[in-house]
Amino acid sequence: MPAAHGRGVSWMDVAADLLLGASCPGCGTPGWAICLPCRETLAAGSPFEVVRRVDAFPGVSAGMVYAGPVRRLVAAHKERHARVATPALAALLAQAVCHRRPEGPVTLVPVPSTRRAVRQRGYDSVRLLAECAASRMAAAGRSVQVVPALRHVRRLDDQASLDTAARWANLQGAMAAERLYGPVVVVDDVCTTGATLYEACRALRAAGVEMCEASTVSATVLRRDRTDRSAGPAAAGPADA
Ligand SMILES: [Zn+2]
Repeated sequence: MPAAHGRGVSWMDVAADLLLGASCPGCGTPGWAICLPCRETLAAGSPFEVVRRVDAFPGVSAGMVYAGPVRRLVAAHKERHARVATPALAALLAQAVCHRRPEGPVTLVPVPSTRRAVRQRGYDSVRLLAECAASRMAAAGRSVQVVPALRHVRRLDDQASLDTAARWANLQGAMAAERLYGPVVVVDDVCTTGATLYEACRALRAAGVEMCEASTVSATVLRRDRTDRSAGPAAAGPADA
């Protein structure tokens, strides 16, 4: 992967990669990579639009539904340095970006990881996915760049420990962005409530970005969103359960 990620990569990381490579991180089957059934499952995924009942929710696409092997691969990539999963997850992300924005130049902006998370994990998994997805898109002829234009402006609680209402509150006004020109697609590994992508796009728009959308490797599908497309609450808020 790009040299930018060389910093913070320790022998422990390399050893973890090697050890994790001994079984498929999507299902645990012994082997040295993602197993064939998991690869086939990923290949069968198709990008889709992510719907959240929140006013001014940005256009969001995902590479496939957050379930089965992709769910385990995303978790392993984020938490266990399972970099054997990077190419497969980045391929899904690239498909999602191309679904949302099929042509023309585009700037990918990774959702920022907290400093604490990067310190604990030793690397920034979303930025790694963004750069790998950009490489794939560039190889296919797209004009694409990755710019880490978002940053946190205050300390965040760990989203995983919070319920939906608290996630929205935790993220409200939590990010700032630098001004970018041209179409921007915020990228992340998974979209659940949508609170992170909403805040990222809010910060980019506040910085003057005119065209801001988002794409993720995978996303949950909320049953309510399949059937009820009525207008959401007046403000983006806890109603997005
Ligand atoms: Zn597998």
